[in-house]
Amino acid sequence: MLKKIFYYGRENNKKTVLSIFLLVIAIFCQTATFLFVYQIIDKIVKNDLITPNFMLFCAAGILISLILQTVFYKKGLDLSHEAAYGTLMNLRISLQGKLEKLPLGVIESKGIGTLKKVFVDDIDSLELLLAHGIPEGVSNLLGIIVIYIFLIFIDWKLALLAAVTIPLGLIAVMLMYSTGSSRMADYYKSGQIMNNTIIEYVNGMEVVKVFNKSGEYYEKFRRSIINYRDFTLSWYKACWPLMAVYGAVLPCTLMANLPVGSWMVIRGYAGLSEYILVLCLSLSLGVPLLRVTSFMSMIPQVRYKIEELEKLLDNPPLKERECEFTGKDYEIKYEDVSFGYDEKEVLHHINLVIRPDTKTAFVGESGSGKSTLAKLLVHYYDVKEGTISIGNQNICDMSLRVLNNLVSYVSQDNFLFNMSLMENIRIGKPEATDDEVIEAARKAQCTEFIEKLPDGFYTLAGDCGNQLSGGEKQRITLARAILKNAPIIVLDEATAFADSENEAKIEAVLTEFVKGKTLIVIAHRLSTVTNADQIYVLKNGEVIEHGTHQDLLHLQGTYKHLWEAHQRSLEWQIAREAKK
Ligand code: ADP
Ligand code: MG
Repeated sequence: MLKKIFYYGRENNKKTVLSIFLLVIAIFCQTATFLFVYQIIDKIVKNDLITPNFMLFCAAGILISLILQTVFYKKGLDLSHEAAYGTLMNLRISLQGKLEKLPLGVIESKGIGTLKKVFVDDIDSLELLLAHGIPEGVSNLLGIIVIYIFLIFIDWKLALLAAVTIPLGLIAVMLMYSTGSSRMADYYKSGQIMNNTIIEYVNGMEVVKVFNKSGEYYEKFRRSIINYRDFTLSWYKACWPLMAVYGAVLPCTLMANLPVGSWMVIRGYAGLSEYILVLCLSLSLGVPLLRVTSFMSMIPQVRYKIEELEKLLDNPPLKERECEFTGKDYEIKYEDVSFGYDEKEVLHHINLVIRPDTKTAFVGESGSGKSTLAKLLVHYYDVKEGTISIGNQNICDMSLRVLNNLVSYVSQDNFLFNMSLMENIRIGKPEATDDEVIEAARKAQCTEFIEKLPDGFYTLAGDCGNQLSGGEKQRITLARAILKNAPIIVLDEATAFADSENEAKIEAVLTEFVKGKTLIVIAHRLSTVTNADQIYVLKNGEVIEHGTHQDLLHLQGTYKHLWEAHQRSLEWQIAREAKK
């Protein structure tokens, strides 16, 4: 684990080492105060003459030692904090780099709560270990070892007596670790569940209220909080008694030394002076001993956190190479493509060819795999088997940047950043002028509703988040795609939210816009795909029918059923509108 920390520490490691060195000196300064005390006691016991000068010398010595201890301690901790924050920065940057390489879909599935906890809370909690745990732990340990070696030189028997509390205290510490570690996973898991539930609860507040589910969701929320409290308490309860034991026993270095040592002195097995020196020095061991153990108790926690961090980022990164696009045209080919989000496969052996400059539709029931098929084309995930190519070049060979320039994907879950609508659309083409942005917005039928907003194009997406309907958000992402003007356009139920009037308008714009481009539409309303050059019908992750609208109707199969259902729903809609 330390290796890992040093790996992320890099340029900060020198500071860490220096801080340990300074902290060791601080410990010796503390020990020095006890040595001055020893000088005085030794003289008193031996009935030697104590001159005022001598007293003054000792008092000054103690004072200077204490001041030096403070100075070195502070300087040491300054350095260790600098090193710690530097290391955390490196850690976050390198995690961010890894996160960026993860398939987008994997990130989505982790949940914001978990990611936030790892990125912010867990990494922050490493600070304690880096700034205090390692430097103080190591320096105190070194200090203790040096002092014990010193004690052994003075009188090995007395030194042994001073060390008796260590095994006793360590037994308690070990017991505490083993109880703590076994519960740690549960404890952290309950924390994560609580985090995710809170975020889910807050995000879903609107839905929860509309559907009168407050009670149910509140209950889930409450249960996760209670659960967390119970786990934390049970963890601490198991550890507290042992903590008390080691806290009491470990620093009590005089426990054996005082009775047995004085007996040894009386019997002449040890010298009085040595005895007093050992007593004084072992008194100086109490604080370092406690520090070492309290920092040791951090180690399992930190190890757990680092493991979790790495597990999170252990997903294989996206297969991505850096080639430019070298295809001669924009023909899209799926060859024997299979894919699953987890073990369960959701797409099986898909084969399809999409000629450039044509309109292709994916249709099928909800859950049949249409969106997944589209997401694979924009490389949200790696395929499990088979290849997807554009112009005969495997998309895995291109960098995401290159692929993104080829394909515009308007997803079902439209995502707006919290910046102005102008900037949100401009993402499609960062160098676009305001006029170009407004023109794209106009084409996507956005102008009307945007102009109604208080600040028009300069309204922040977050501020109008609740004012914009799903259809309006989708049209903004559509404007983004229009502005981007990529040769391949994928629209995932892009008009699903639009009412029929708007839909007709958008359709008209699209027909104009996609001239000379390859268009893939995923459509719920089949009336929008009757003019497609080819239609792929999906069912349970397989292509079961393929052809033009007319071909498919003749087949009398699934498409025919879908089409009839669609006709009925249209009739129903017309009948309902007529009633109004
Ligand atoms: P469609 O767009 O046709 O409605 P999808 O492609 O969204 O279907 O989904 C196909 C299958 O994959 C469904 O069974 C769905 O439950 C599953 N699925 C979709 N997204 C995920 C995901 N992020 N993690 C796990 N399973 C998913
Ligand atoms: Mg879908």
